[in-house]
Amino acid sequence: MANKDGSSAAELFDSNKGLAFDDFIILPGFIDFNPEEVSLETNLTKNIKIKKPLTSSPMDTVTESRMAIGLALLGGVGFIHYNNTIEEQFIEIKKVKRFENGFITNPIVLTPEHRISEIDRIKSRYGFSSIPITENGKLNSKLLGIVTNRDIDFETDRNKKLGEVMTTELVTAFQGISLKEANEILKRSKKGKLPIIDKDGNLVSLMSRNDLHTNREYPTASKDEKKQLMVGASISTREESKERLDALVNAGVNIVIIDSAQGNSVFQIDMLKYIKKKYPEIDVICGNVVTEDQCANLIKAGADALRIGMGPGSICTTQTTMAVGRAQANAIYRCAKFAKKSSVPVIADGGIANIGHIAKALALGASTVMMGSMFAGTDEAPGEYFYENGVRLKKYRGMASLEAMKEGGEKRYFAEDSKIKVAQGVSGAVMDKGSLFDYVQYLIQGLKHSFQDMGAKDIPKLHELLYSNELRFELRSLSAQMEGGVHDMYSYTKPKYS
Ligand code: GDP
Ligand code: GDP
Ligand code: 5GP
Repeated sequence: MANKDGSSAAELFDSNKGLAFDDFIILPGFIDFNPEEVSLETNLTKNIKIKKPLTSSPMDTVTESRMAIGLALLGGVGFIHYNNTIEEQFIEIKKVKRFENGFITNPIVLTPEHRISEIDRIKSRYGFSSIPITENGKLNSKLLGIVTNRDIDFETDRNKKLGEVMTTELVTAFQGISLKEANEILKRSKKGKLPIIDKDGNLVSLMSRNDLHTNREYPTASKDEKKQLMVGASISTREESKERLDALVNAGVNIVIIDSAQGNSVFQIDMLKYIKKKYPEIDVICGNVVTEDQCANLIKAGADALRIGMGPGSICTTQTTMAVGRAQANAIYRCAKFAKKSSVPVIADGGIANIGHIAKALALGASTVMMGSMFAGTDEAPGEYFYENGVRLKKYRGMASLEAMKEGGEKRYFAEDSKIKVAQGVSGAVMDKGSLFDYVQYLIQGLKHSFQDMGAKDIPKLHELLYSNELRFELRSLSAQMEGGVHDMYSYTKPKYS
């Protein structure tokens, strides 16, 4: 190996010299496959695999249900932030879990005595309006009919009873039918909904035609065993979070992040042990960490994945203010290599500004990346667009910015009891990126090309090349970095995304 070009990752990142993504470049490998053949499947946690290595930050200007639904459909996972009430976070999770289903095992049901206005209320809260009607308004009670939008859209009297407008001629299927067979009946019957009943005619679940379409359009969606979209959520290490956790689990959350800027604390370890004892089926992501010692404590306490990064975030001022943190490339490499011994995947969190950075994070051993600023400008991020100097923007702020802390974001920084607040983040704006769906497809296509250039057909292969020292790296001088960007042009058209 001694005569190989460039350096191994160990040579560059085991040194005490802090390197950022732009400080190094990866030397090309050997290509014997097309970009279309690249698989980006990866482990988000010890137990959860997803098809694309992309996650969105639990921040109040990044991830609520729209972002989480979009990312899960596209093969990643979104983490709903906790800068809100327990009820609000619960509803955001519920919206994701109810978005797409195989069998809807717990559909909302009403009685013939309810009024149309009740359906209006359900529609505004959950977004759907097809409601099965049973004798007592519950599951496992005799199915009498169904009310869908077409039964009520022209009805001006919203006080009318559902018994008067419901459709009673129903196509149904019997309990025990497979998802595949039920899909066939839905296709044949040309109906929008298929109620599933038991032998006595009691309603046991529901299926929706639209889910068939969604399932066909998004074959790589991240789903759980009930065919519901996967979703994560963050909580803090505070006592209040125990109640929050119960609500999130109740809503169907799949993965919980314990969100601390410095995760190596007795508070985090206590919370992790509490969750693992009470809800062993929930995967827990711990962090943030940047050193092997920090990783060791959390892995020992049972973390299912680690979030790596202290200070690289685009909105972050931690390193300047606290004098603590680590350059992100070193942090990822060291932590990933260490956690690998326990088969704990790591998430590269913060500082990612383009496709090249995603590829570099994965090449340094990360299994997934987490992004805030990259997603904050999309349609699916919370908040409205606004204009500044003619440019269309969306707000993006650190959870430890003064503005977010005022609204509760300080929980991440053990700062909620302090009278004087020291910000560790800023508040600002990012450029409009348009639809998340277009943007993520672009990121994925770019990543596939990058994997082809590196000579790795998938993420496990990339990691194999990394740890066998086959993957070669080179430091870049400042002028090499300039050379690697666009230069010496009088003018040029900036691509829509960079
Ligand atoms: P699995 O490995 O058995 O879970 O297989 P698939 O995920 O491929 O799904 C099995 C059957 O269920 C196929 O007919 C799929 O089209 C169908 N299916 C998968 N996900 C959904 C979904 O979200 N909604 C509906 N309606 N059908 C689904
Ligand atoms: P609807 O015709 O207005 O009910 O809405 P769609 O069928 O277009 O979409 C409903 C979506 O919500 C589907 O993805 C369902 O799987 C999902 N969903 C989740 N829970 C429920 C529920 O309790 N009732 C109904 N109708 N849909 C639900
Ligand atoms: P970005 O993708 O914008 O570079 O970074 C997003 C990441 O920054 C988040 O996932 C989170 O780890 C971190 N972060 C979010 N808010 C703050 C903050 O106010 N201060 C610091 N230090 N980090 C933050």
